Amino acid sequence: MPKKTELNLDDKKSRLQQITKLLKKAYPDAHCALNHTSAFELLIATILSAQCTDERVNIVTANLFRKYRKPEDYMKVAQTELEKDIHSTGFFRNKAKNIQGACQLLIDKFNGEIPNTMEELLQLPGVARKTANVVLGNAFNIASGVVVDTHVSRLSQKLGLTENETPEKIEQDLSAITPKKDWIMLPHWLISHGRAVCNARKPKCEICPLEKICPSSLLKN
Ligand code: SF4
Repeated sequence: MPKKTELNLDDKKSRLQQITKLLKKAYPDAHCALNHTSAFELLIATILSAQCTDERVNIVTANLFRKYRKPEDYMKVAQTELEKDIHSTGFFRNKAKNIQGACQLLIDKFNGEIPNTMEELLQLPGVARKTANVVLGNAFNIASGVVVDTHVSRLSQKLGLTENETPEKIEQDLSAITPKKDWIMLPHWLISHGRAVCNARKPKCEICPLEKICPSSLLKN
């Protein structure tokens, strides 16, 4: 594929403005795909979602959240029992260890409640910026940053919004060109589009509402 011309910041801002307008229209119901009824459940679901599909996490949490309702419940069982309960999400040993570590800290330091600042959330085992942004944005409606997952990385690159590869740098690039009011929703729109149309293996450019402004459209190459 020919190398795409790098846009300046103002051009990226204006391209993103067009993109969000079109995606907002295409996915009016875009929302967090991880089922949850509280900030605590969302934290657990997000830890489980590493290297796993949201669909699989939702299957697992349907039972998990009936068995474990609060941080204390996760501390009552042996790590091996929790590992069995989350086994199918992959990396289950590490995830079980992190969940129990996070629950212990929530009990010891935060009165069993989920804190609502980036600084505090990052103290919890298994919680990096992405997980903290998911929880702050979707459970507390706090725009702390832009969630960057694989869909968001791929689409931002394809759409010429970033030339960077790492989630941290891509987050910085997207935050610089996205109005703060859209920080929470932008990832939901991009993820919805990545799932429905701009598939990693076979993007459906012929039906894509972004086709005219997308530098990676297969119809142009
Ligand atoms: S035009 Fe093609 S490559 Fe560009 S966003 Fe749409 S589906 Fe993806």
